[in-house]
Amino acid sequence: MRTPYLALCALLLTIGLSVGCDRQEHPAPTVAKQVVVTTLYPLYEFARQLAGDRMEVQLLLPPGVEPHHFEPTPDDLARIHRAALFVYIGPFLEPWAERVIAGVDRQKVRVVAAAEKVKLLPAPSHGGHDHDHDHHAGAAASDPHVWLDFVADQTMVTTLLDALVAADPAGAEQYRQRAGELKRQLAELDQRYRNGLANCDSRVLLHGGHAAFGYLANRYHLTYQSAAGVTAELEATPQRLAQLVQQVRQHKVQAVFMEQLDSPRVADTLARETGATVRRLHGAHNVGKDERQRGVTFIGLMEENLTQLQAGLGCRN
Ligand SMILES: [Zn+2]
Repeated sequence: MRTPYLALCALLLTIGLSVGCDRQEHPAPTVAKQVVVTTLYPLYEFARQLAGDRMEVQLLLPPGVEPHHFEPTPDDLARIHRAALFVYIGPFLEPWAERVIAGVDRQKVRVVAAAEKVKLLPAPSHGGHDHDHDHHAGAAASDPHVWLDFVADQTMVTTLLDALVAADPAGAEQYRQRAGELKRQLAELDQRYRNGLANCDSRVLLHGGHAAFGYLANRYHLTYQSAAGVTAELEATPQRLAQLVQQVRQHKVQAVFMEQLDSPRVADTLARETGATVRRLHGAHNVGKDERQRGVTFIGLMEENLTQLQAGLGCRN
């Protein structure tokens, strides 16, 4: 008798249990949600916005942890191996991901390099001991911080959309609609930056930390000077600090920026030496627990950044 079985399943599904019901002849496609594992906060947010309630999206990085030198735990590896999609930026940001990918069954886990269609900028050449002089040295030749370019973000959303549609064709229409909405929001953000940074006293974005804002500076025609290179744990050499002090004086820079992953030492030193004020930017590599609880969003963080930039650079708009 199939009817009582199906009726029982319908009842179980209604109360949120699906034990044994997915083996029936006509399985409901959304009974067990496919899992999407993402490596980085912006990817997590983009994937969540696209997936809606059709897939379960997880962020691999624990709250507050920086991604440049993250090493996945055995539990993390197990999560990736169980996932339907594994979404990362690219080997130039997450060198550890290459080792993970080498071990996964590509028949089961769809691997998505979100930035594969983004034109990468070279890593800045200044900045002292910035690059790893080990087997990742080649990877550090590109600047990995593509998510801080809101045009590149739209390209990444399209790549993500294609992957979701391939993994779950039945949801294609919903994914497309949500991707369209997200891209519209990102395009508006880009427009606000264009307008907001068009008319400023200074176009020198002086950053007392690792070179996270190269794409942003490039997009809005700011001159970017960072204390260290593109990876997070490195600090400026004394020579680089002296150069930056000179830059501040020469260009009459009013504000030194720093972000949450940076040690405040460099920005504080620069500010003390020159009388510039220290302003905060958010690199959005990841968010802390408190920020999650406050319900911050990527676009919200970027709007706060714009406010800080406008104040620090003396923009009138
Ligand atoms: Zn970074």
